[in-house]
Amino acid sequence: MNLNSPLFDRIRTRREAKTEPSPARGTVCSHPGCQAPGEFRAPMGRLREGQYFCFCLDHVKEYNATYNYFNGMSDEDVLRYQKDAVIGHRPTWKMGANRAGVASAGMQDPFHMQGAKAGKSRTPKHGVVARKALHVLGLDDEARPAEIKGRYKEMVKRLHPDANGGDRSNEDKLREIINAYNVLRSSRAV
Ligand SMILES: [Zn+2]
Repeated sequence: MNLNSPLFDRIRTRREAKTEPSPARGTVCSHPGCQAPGEFRAPMGRLREGQYFCFCLDHVKEYNATYNYFNGMSDEDVLRYQKDAVIGHRPTWKMGANRAGVASAGMQDPFHMQGAKAGKSRTPKHGVVARKALHVLGLDDEARPAEIKGRYKEMVKRLHPDANGGDRSNEDKLREIINAYNVLRSSRAV
């Protein structure tokens, strides 16, 4: 937005004329050498809040176009004021290019999220269903096909009724193992 556009001057002039009490009758324009009626008030600026110039229309427009609240402040003061305005004018460290650079470098990874991301967490070798099946077989999440096959054969042999003198008490467990192995086969873990 161009703050110096004539349109903006007009809007601002109108708003100020509306919201602020009019200067007393007979007030002359504050602009040096101007004798026109000072009908429009304009704030004097920082440290003179509540004080106003009274300008004619032409000069209030000119004043508004060049009005700078931060007149008389150094660039550093302006930066500090603007930053303080954002954080509520609390005293804090001094604003400066170098200091800001250091601060932002420290903020790049405040919770060491990147380390966590780059570190331990890998994509699991097997999906959730296959991992459950591995746990049924008493295997860990990273079990390899040969390991799975070996464990399956071993458990079937141990739980099968033929290996237990016809005892069928392990039948449910055996069914669970077979189902788990079928899950691992269909998810191509074996
Ligand atoms: Zn004037």
